[in-house]
Formats: sequence, C-alpha cells, structure tokens
Amino acid sequence: MSSKPPTKATFGFGAIRVPIFEPTELFARSIGLDTDVVSKEMYTFEDYEATELVELRTAAVTNVASLASGEALIDFLDRVGNFILAAEKAFEAGRIPKTSENERTLQMARELIANLQTFRYQGEREILPRVAELKDAVRQVRFGDVISLRPEATASVCRAYIEHGMRQLPQPVKLYYIGPMFRRERPQKGRYRQFYQIGAEVLGGSDAPAIDAEVIEMVMTFFDRLELQGVQLDINSIGHSADNCRRAYVEKLKAALENVKDKLGPDSQRRIETNPLRVLDSKLESEQGIIATLPRIADHLCEDCATHYAAVKHQLEMRGVIYRENWRLVRGLDYYMRTTFEITAQGLGSQNAVCGGGRYDGLVELLGGPPTKGIGFAIGEDRLILSLQESGKAPAQQGRDVYIAWMGERAHATAIRAAKDLRKAGFSVELPPVEQKFGKALGQADKLGAKYALILGDNEVSEGLWTLKTLADGSQAKFTEPDLLVHLKKQL
Ligand code: AMP
Repeated sequence: MSSKPPTKATFGFGAIRVPIFEPTELFARSIGLDTDVVSKEMYTFEDYEATELVELRTAAVTNVASLASGEALIDFLDRVGNFILAAEKAFEAGRIPKTSENERTLQMARELIANLQTFRYQGEREILPRVAELKDAVRQVRFGDVISLRPEATASVCRAYIEHGMRQLPQPVKLYYIGPMFRRERPQKGRYRQFYQIGAEVLGGSDAPAIDAEVIEMVMTFFDRLELQGVQLDINSIGHSADNCRRAYVEKLKAALENVKDKLGPDSQRRIETNPLRVLDSKLESEQGIIATLPRIADHLCEDCATHYAAVKHQLEMRGVIYRENWRLVRGLDYYMRTTFEITAQGLGSQNAVCGGGRYDGLVELLGGPPTKGIGFAIGEDRLILSLQESGKAPAQQGRDVYIAWMGERAHATAIRAAKDLRKAGFSVELPPVEQKFGKALGQADKLGAKYALILGDNEVSEGLWTLKTLADGSQAKFTEPDLLVHLKKQL
C-alpha cells in the first residue's frame, strides 16, 4: 500500500474561490493606503465601456499645434469643451460613476475653460500652466470603477463572508483558498509579479487563543508532512490599536526613531512618518545595531493583549509547536493585530518567508460587516516548492498505475475498453493513441513511472488472457479480464 497523505480535510476547512480582481477600494481600505502593497505594488485599472468619451478625451488632450497661437488655443478649448459636455451628459445619465469626485472634476474643468478663454491673447507663460491644469482635470474624469488584481485574498474572503451572510453558518467559518496573487515587484528568485498563495482564514465570534494556535499547528503539520526543511516559526503580538496599547507604543517608537533619524537610510526615514512599525522590518545591515536599541512592543501591550499573547504561546506548547519569539515581526499589512507569525524555510536566499499570517479582528467590521474576529495565513506556494526542490523533497510527478501497450486493430478496441474499466475502478491509466512496437511501448511506460504494463496483442485478444508485466522486476503473468481487476485492486 502506498503511504499517501490523508486527502480528507482533517482540520475541517472548506474551499472558497474569490475573484481575481476586486474594487481597488477593498484593498486600499483593508491592507492600508500607506503599505507598500497598496501604494506601489497593485495592478490597478479603470473598468469602463465609454468608447465615445475615450475618443473625445484623447482628442482633447492631444496637442496638434503650439497653443501659443490664439487659434490653436480656441481649437483646444473646443475639443475639451466637447469632451466635458459629453462627460456631463454621461454623468447625468449614470453612464460614468456618479461620484462627488467626478462632479468636482467636471466643475473644475468648466471653470478652467472659462478662465482660459479670457487668457487667449496672453503669452505662453500664462497659458501653458493653465492648459496643463485643464488637461489634468480632463484626465481625472473617471469613466468606470477602479479595480485591482488581487494582491492577497484575506480582504476578499472577509468581503465574501459579509456579502454571503456567512454569519448565519455555524461559527467559526473555516475557509481555504489556493490561487494566483499579483504584485508589481522587481522579479527575483522567490519574488514574482504573479505568484501563488495557499491561504486559510478562520472567521467568527471568538478570538480564543486556541484558534490562533490551531491555525499555526495546521500549517506546521502541513509543512511537516511535506518534509519542508529548516522550518522556523517566528511569532509576535502587535497588540491592538488603542491608546493604551499599540498607539502608545508607536508614538514611543516614533520618538525613538526621530532621535536616530540621521543614522537611518532613506526608506526608514520615510517610514518614520508613514508606517514606523515597518522600520523594524528593515534588512539593511547598517540599521541593525540601531534597531536593536529601539523600544519593544512586548513591553507596551495592554493587559488584554498581553494575556492573549501568553495564552497563544501556552496553547502552542500544548500542541508541541516549536516557536521563536521575534519582537521585530510586524507584518506589512495594516489589518493585523495581536498574533502575527511568519515561517521561514531553507534554500531560499533572502526571500525565505514561506508563510505569513496573523489575527485581524476588526477587518470584517471595517468592511461594513458585523463585529467579527479573524485569523489567517498565506503560504507562498512558489517559495514552498522552491525550498522543497532545493532539498530534494519535491514530490516527483505521479507515475501511472498501468500503461497499456497494444498492437493491432483488434487489440486497440480491447485496449480502449480495458482503459475505460480500469479508470472506472480508480486506476491511473496511460493509453497510447497510436500503435507502438512493444519494446518502445515498454520503454515509454518506464519513463512515465508506470507500475504495470498491460500487454495486448493478437494472442492476448484471441485467448482472452491478458499479459501484465510488473515493471519494477520484469515479471509477467497472464490474467482473464475479471481476474486482472481483482489482482490490481489487491496490489495498488
Ligand atoms: P503576505 O501576503 O505579504 O503576507 O505574504 C505571504 C507569503 O506569500 C510570503 O511569506 C511569501 O511566501 C509569499 N509571497 C508574497 N509576495 C510574493 C511574491 N511577490 N512572490 C512570491 N511569493 C510571494
């Protein structure tokens, strides 16, 4: 018998498929505007059908002659005017988004046109900045929804939880997903613009530390089963966003960072303002000594968060999960709170994180749902496979159970029937589409890692006795059709 891992959902998670793209706002609100993922890495575009408006806009913003001449300016203003008129009509009819931004932009464009008309006898110096401003306004008119390729899936799972009333299901709802994510990155080993994540989320009314621990136990069990090498689990608690907890810590951290600002690189200097916690993520050699002296969040957690963190650690110990506390583990996304964790593995160079996760209790509420607790993780599937390949643990392509070597027209018909019956019985079968000499067919069976070759020639067909060759030792035996099935079921 093979030692195949169980295929049952042993931790009780069900699959969810979330869309490849969503409104940009979903990611901006949840992941956070100041995170790298949202501010720099999302593939964002406008989704619209306004063909006529697109043409009018292109005509409006494309210069054909120097605008210094009065006529060229009038012509330009005509073109822009045509566009604005059409856009206003589309706005009224709801064919472009009826947002306050669009209303304001259209209004501004009208004023700029009127303003420029009074400047038509002025020189370029007066005209050009106003023309640039008007062009900007024209470009800002939104024709449709702004959407992004998903950079991660937690926000989408939370959206789905709200939209599909999953609150009515038995809680917690435990979901997993597998699929592509997209981030604009400089591609390198283990870092791609389209990569794959295997993720899981637990959503419901409870934030019991045992949930955090079981989620971590599950991913560690998975890695163990895959024999992933050099696995290291780091955990931390980043508290919650209250004055007596993370907010106070961030203020302290900010003050401490201001004191050492001159010694930090430009990225960290910028982050003091935008996202001070992210400075702790820095891998810059020159910053390591300075970071070691900064205040630590563990010393500033409120009582509830400290108790929760202690209980998570206890729960991990009860499950025999080995962890390392890492006070610098803050994660890059805004929605995390309390428990955060990251798992690294060997053979990956600098991109060695194979899994990241954490608790995000306020997220469902932030997206308009009921107060809900949540925790989840995402495994980087590409990196997982890379690491397994580096250590020679990547699973080989699954070989076939049976390769059917057939010769002759009659044998072909029998082979087709045999393949159908064997597949129905659950065996994996390779049936070559064209006739091959037996020697070649057996070589092919070997290359495909087949366990058996079923040999069907004229003799076998007329005798009703089929030859089964065991490829590992070359032994052969003859079977009637029903006996063959019984025999294979015992072996495989
Ligand atoms: P995150 O969603 O940023 O918490 O990432 C979770 C995991 O996804 C990381 O630990 C990586 O294994 C993987 N990952 C993130 N970004 C990339 C990328 N650009 N290419 C490949 N894997 C990635």
